[in-house]
Amino acid sequence: MKAIVIGGGIIGCSVAWRLAAEGVATTVLERGRVGQEASWAAAGMIAPQAEADGPGPFFDFCMKARDAFEAIVDRLMRDGGIDPEYDRAGILYVALDAAERAQLERRAKWQRTAGAEVEELSGAEARRIEPMLSPETVYAIHMPTNRRTDNRKLTQAYAAAARKAGAEFAEGALVEALAIRGGRAAGVLMDDGATREADVVINAAGSWAGEIRGLEADRVKLRPVRGQIVCLEAAPGTIGPALFSLRGYLVPRRDGRLLAGSTTEEAGYNKAVTLAGIEKITRGAAAIVPGLGTAAFRQAWAGLRPATRDLLPVLGFSPSVPNVLWAAGHFRSGILLSAITGEIIADLVKGRRPAIELGAFSAARFREQ
Ligand SMILES: Cc1cc2nc3c(=O)[nH]c(=O)nc-3n(C[C@H](O)[C@H](O)[C@H](O)COP(=O)(O)OP(=O)(O)OC[C@H]3O[C@@H](n4cnc5c(N)ncnc54)[C@H](O)[C@@H]3O)c2cc1C
Repeated sequence: MKAIVIGGGIIGCSVAWRLAAEGVATTVLERGRVGQEASWAAAGMIAPQAEADGPGPFFDFCMKARDAFEAIVDRLMRDGGIDPEYDRAGILYVALDAAERAQLERRAKWQRTAGAEVEELSGAEARRIEPMLSPETVYAIHMPTNRRTDNRKLTQAYAAAARKAGAEFAEGALVEALAIRGGRAAGVLMDDGATREADVVINAAGSWAGEIRGLEADRVKLRPVRGQIVCLEAAPGTIGPALFSLRGYLVPRRDGRLLAGSTTEEAGYNKAVTLAGIEKITRGAAAIVPGLGTAAFRQAWAGLRPATRDLLPVLGFSPSVPNVLWAAGHFRSGILLSAITGEIIADLVKGRRPAIELGAFSAARFREQ
């Protein structure tokens, strides 16, 4: 069987690894370079509890995604030979005033009811775990099983593992449309007019996935939601756990970099870093860790989170073109969801029933809207 994966972001690379590892002749077509869009720009949290806004199928999916991630990370390192710097330090979600505390207490309650591990801490207890925290911390929830990784290395790890399993990657390869024959995809049409043949096509083109022609009847629309990051320099180990608050987050890297995020902006496909974005992010970071006022600024960047109309991913077979699958719309959680998405798509391509009920994430939901 021959598969074409459109898009070499973390999702396309994870899918390619799982397909190639099962003997599917897989080609990833990436219009630019592998892993340089949202998957490069992200903060790298494997954090179902820090990201979720409430209980439900998406929260359950994210919790399973964390387990799926944990289950493959050693194999991925062995297969690809790249260490994605998976750190198990947990996440502290802090409140700096009474109103924030009330919100986080509600969060702790529904998460505990939903079966997640949450510890409620006083400000002093939180500061014992992370002494750099603001003395104004009044309360925190500790999520010891939420993780982080270096998403750039992780994307390259999936790609390297995919290559070693036999997948091919073509960079500078822009897909314009599906090549439809007899109601099925015979492959894809490239911007230079060439056709590339395949038995199955996976659309993992991130914020651009809705632009591939031939899938209009699915009515899946994707839009980019800009997120900016400010990267600071500190000594390695300055901060232990990733720190979240309602004002922003701080994610440490092993080499000492501290990623402060983020914004959630409707700015089209514009990846500019703005003064307003930097101002919001740095104000949030300094509120959580006031000592960062003297940290050196290193870099700032922005990326485009792929969002569907209901902000849930779109996974599985296209209702209109039977041998095409969607693997897109991962919005704020594509790093967390990368392993499970690869697993689900490989299951579907191989004719197995995925372990996850996909109803809430199927493309069919948009045809009914
Ligand atoms: C600031 C920020 C912070 C984030 N933090 C986190 C986090 O902590 N944890 C988390 O889980 N998620 C996080 N995310 C979300 C995560 O980055 C995304 O959900 C994820 O990267 C999406 O991966 P993707 O492969 O679908 O998209 P992308 O990485 O955007 O890849 C899509 C690829 O498709 C290619 N492509 C597009 N059109 C075509 C075409 N026609 N032909 C060929 N190739 C094409 C593009 O060039 C691109 O390389 C964050 C995002 C941002 C912006």
